[in-house]
Amino acid sequence: MLFSRLAEYTRMMADGKQLPPFIYPPCWLDGAARCSAGAEHRCLSGDLETCSSLIKEVHSARPELRGAAWQRIVAHLKQVYEEHHEYNEERTLEAMQAALLYGLLGAQQAASVSYVDVAWVVEMIEAFGHRLFDMTAWDHEVDLAYLSRPQWVLVESMRRIGCVLYLFDLLLHSNATTPSTGECETFFNMPLPCSRNLWIAASEAQWQAGYQSVQARRCNQHQLILGELLTFRRSPPSEEPTKITAPGMEEALAEWCEHADDLSMLLWMAGAVDGDGQAPALVRGEVDAGAGLHPDGPIFE
Ligand SMILES: [Zn+2]
Repeated sequence: MLFSRLAEYTRMMADGKQLPPFIYPPCWLDGAARCSAGAEHRCLSGDLETCSSLIKEVHSARPELRGAAWQRIVAHLKQVYEEHHEYNEERTLEAMQAALLYGLLGAQQAASVSYVDVAWVVEMIEAFGHRLFDMTAWDHEVDLAYLSRPQWVLVESMRRIGCVLYLFDLLLHSNATTPSTGECETFFNMPLPCSRNLWIAASEAQWQAGYQSVQARRCNQHQLILGELLTFRRSPPSEEPTKITAPGMEEALAEWCEHADDLSMLLWMAGAVDGDGQAPALVRGEVDAGAGLHPDGPIFE
């Protein structure tokens, strides 16, 4: 079920009408140039535009031609890898989003794509991920109050891609362990995605209203992180949630669920099947999941 929902993201990218919930359509930042509702997004550029057309090619190719279409993806990704040290944050994010979609695509195309190629794409995802998450603050210490909408899109997109990476890690689970071996502090401390309405706000004014409302509530509400969701989902109803329970956490989680989008629902579902993933180490207290509530830490740079 989880895999089929993740696999759907590559079809969404190929279709182009509704992008995967970790890619913010560029036209949403420019209301006047918004692509028509229900039509394909024509606003993608650079590596994401290439990604869309290459994935479309694989999906539409006859089975015997899919291997050749996949090799064009490999060639493109090699070129991106050679150039990515020159990329700024936004381009690195796009490279990361594209690589993650290629990884999801490769995992679906076992008949046309070798295990070696998929493992290589995973290496690319890790390389872009390390660079991206080193470039820009993304965690709960980012003071959202000072961000413009484009800066918020970058931070929120990074958090969302972090959550998708957690799901991808679960997907690659084998022999009762995941590639991260359940010890990834970055996953634990990843802030959960924002509400559906804030993500899809139809105009600058709507986004401002929603954003200010979030900021106002943030003063007395807990900033949720993925580790808390996983721990909460693993706690039997009769037991007190352990280790990282913080004041206001359950109320914040209830409100988050009420306004969840597709990605948030996948995370909720993943919490129930995470048995061999991230939660066990967290529950055992082996990882530092220290979510600050209202940090004064470094601002977006
Ligand atoms: Zn668009």
